[in-house]
Amino acid sequence: MKEHNYSSWALDTLLVHSNQFNYTSNNSGIPSVEPISTSTTYLHRNAEMLDQAFSGISPSGEPAYVYARQGNPNAQTLEKVLTQAEKGVGAVVFASGMAAIHAALLASGLASGSKILAAQDLYGPTIGMLRTVFVPIGVELVLQDLCSPQVIETVRAEQPDVIYIETLSNPLTRVIDLDVISAIAKEVGAVSIVDSTFTTPYLIKPIDHGFDLVIHSATKYLGGHGDATAGVVISARNNLVEQLRGYATMLGAMLSPFDSYLITRGLKTLALRMERQCNNALEISQFLQKHKAVERVHYPGLPTHPQHELASRLLMNRHFGGLLAFELKEQTREAAYRFMDRLQLCLPATTLGDVYSEVSYPALSSHRNLTTSERQKFGITDGCIRLSVGIEDVNDLLYDLDQALLSH
Ligand SMILES: *Cc1c(COP(=O)(O)O)cnc(C)c1O
Repeated sequence: MKEHNYSSWALDTLLVHSNQFNYTSNNSGIPSVEPISTSTTYLHRNAEMLDQAFSGISPSGEPAYVYARQGNPNAQTLEKVLTQAEKGVGAVVFASGMAAIHAALLASGLASGSKILAAQDLYGPTIGMLRTVFVPIGVELVLQDLCSPQVIETVRAEQPDVIYIETLSNPLTRVIDLDVISAIAKEVGAVSIVDSTFTTPYLIKPIDHGFDLVIHSATKYLGGHGDATAGVVISARNNLVEQLRGYATMLGAMLSPFDSYLITRGLKTLALRMERQCNNALEISQFLQKHKAVERVHYPGLPTHPQHELASRLLMNRHFGGLLAFELKEQTREAAYRFMDRLQLCLPATTLGDVYSEVSYPALSSHRNLTTSERQKFGITDGCIRLSVGIEDVNDLLYDLDQALLSH
């Protein structure tokens, strides 16, 4: 390990060596793990060097810092590795996934008179932000089913300025064809944005599929340990990186050095965790599909999933994610509560992507603001349970699920 040529590295290698970027053969005695720089302020030898530091680069070409809100070494290390992982030209990290989404929407140019076309089954708070922050300033919001075969006609008819999707929908894991969306976005001149939180760069690199901006709630799989809230936007275009940086600095939603460190540390095992989580999720899906208390399982790795073929084409490493949903035969809230309360290993948690398995009940959490009939329209029944599969031994998980289902 001397000079890093990380552009040739596979994702797992890149992530493991992510915070050693400053290691070069002409400095010795430096720590192998980048220290956490808590300083809010960075000093420079003279006024001229301070002036130069405002550009972000020192005279010798090293990164230069002035004030932590404008950038700090730990955030920059994380931005570098995520840029490489997603094959973008730059990235900006934020204090949460929601802050990242906010900045991405602003950077895309959404303003009074512009139109955004978004997938109807987006993460609830994202739709909430569009409705309460952007619609009141004069942005037109159109929500549509963007998994539908008519998506090309829909986009041509709407002529949006921005198209916003998620790689896999919550909780039913519906798959959107990223190649079709990015091609039609280019045709109508729209900025394309995708939230890839559920898939991570282990399963898909949306920039390779023609997307302009990729968002992650790094709180989920990227961090992976349930101990840090963070978000990131990776850009395929330099002008959008500048916009994002400008908004990050102005809105003050920068990620702290400590949280940057935690996410960078979590990323080192992303590939390993994803591999285990995807394998566990497939095995659990197959088990649940045969279980007498289960009506239906939604997992893109099952041949019965309506978009299994599309998922096989889009998702890498022959894996299909760590998230699945299933419906109890007894489709009532009481049955769902009984099941969740009987679980001994899987934690009842509204989040996902952690090393431990987590169950949530969409009617109570992500989709609680919808009426029963609205939920039904989206295919979310009262017996629908979401499972974010962790890295535990799969037999322990199967045992726990089975004993909780046996009450049915
Ligand atoms: C959790 C989540 C977000 C929001 O991220 P926070 O880090 O909680 O702000 C956005 N999109 C998706 C798909 C999520 O799961």
